[in-house]
Amino acid sequence: MSWYIKQVDDGKGYGLFAKQDITCGDVILEEEPLVCSQFSWNKLYKYRACDYCLKSLETAEEMCRRLAQNPSINLPHPECCKAKPETNVHCLNCEEVYCSMACREKAYNEYHKTLCPSSDQCDKSALEVLDETWRGFHFPPETASIQMIMRILARIKQEDKKEEFIAAIERFCHISTNNVEQIAHKLLGEQFSNQISVLRDQLKSALFDESVQHWFTTDGFKNIFALLGTNQQGIGSSALSVWVLNCDELNLQESDRLDLDSCIDDLYQELNNVAGTFLNCEGAGLYVTQSKCNHSCDPNAEVSYLYNNHRLTLKATKDLNQDEEITISYLSECLQSRGKITRQEFLRENYLFNCQCNKCMTLSEIDDVTSDEDYDEKDDDDNNNNLLEN
Ligand SMILES: [Zn+2]
Ligand SMILES: [Zn+2]
Ligand SMILES: [Zn+2]
Repeated sequence: MSWYIKQVDDGKGYGLFAKQDITCGDVILEEEPLVCSQFSWNKLYKYRACDYCLKSLETAEEMCRRLAQNPSINLPHPECCKAKPETNVHCLNCEEVYCSMACREKAYNEYHKTLCPSSDQCDKSALEVLDETWRGFHFPPETASIQMIMRILARIKQEDKKEEFIAAIERFCHISTNNVEQIAHKLLGEQFSNQISVLRDQLKSALFDESVQHWFTTDGFKNIFALLGTNQQGIGSSALSVWVLNCDELNLQESDRLDLDSCIDDLYQELNNVAGTFLNCEGAGLYVTQSKCNHSCDPNAEVSYLYNNHRLTLKATKDLNQDEEITISYLSECLQSRGKITRQEFLRENYLFNCQCNKCMTLSEIDDVTSDEDYDEKDDDDNNNNLLEN
């Protein structure tokens, strides 16, 4: 392992540090989430992902044809697409689809036995109401908090080692109670600040469990909601990105390389014209180690999904010295390029900390000059997802 976790004493809780010198481009860690889920709207709009691992269930070519609404697209180098839709399987009792028998089994053993519409383990109409309520509150871009809470509660019901699992969830960074109200409302959208109790009541009637009854009190619910909101990591899976990555690695003659690159550019242009920028199956997950990685506006590492599923890769984007803190950016690319005031306000509102990264500390004078216009444009960014994009 090239990393270690250490408590940091400036209010950030824990941090991830380099155990040895790390070279730019090196993989620092790979990790699968404790729990994850596709976003409700993403699923509703027919982005087909494995219910368990979020792998996109189509080939790159199928995905392009669907998104561009053009059945005549033929991708060159089909061997670069690693998706295997022929291994997709349904739940034996419902329409849910998995990328493999292994995922179906894991899903069933962890949560689907409870959540499957055919089971009598919980009130399914209550679950549907809850999902609808959530979608009503939460237009895209969205978070997966409610779906994750459902899976967590289902897993608690099914888990042999209940206490261990609950402890693992509660070990994710907690926010001080004063701030919980603020962040819970922020994550849900301020206009719905009164609706948290609606969600809580619906969740309670669908999946109440005695072993975590403290999650169902008003404060407890906000607490767990805030915990998920501030710790969840956005996931994007795409057979197309994997195909492109593998195409990049092909050993081609220069003219063939130019042809392929321009073919890929044209393809993205066509997809962009029809489907916009929403290309991936999207969701979010809770990652035990990666969640310890703190933010910097000038990060030295980044998260990506190289396997077309929920397996996360943390890669160095700079050379790191031994014992240097490993950081990622919690900002979208667009926010990342904004002035200090905009960045800091977003981080304060969504993650409840005052950013004191090197960039924020060194650029103060120059950066503040742009802060007025920054401030005016801030509302657009507020509507951006607080999650990290792939
Ligand atoms: Zn899967
Ligand atoms: Zn099922
Ligand atoms: Zn900063």
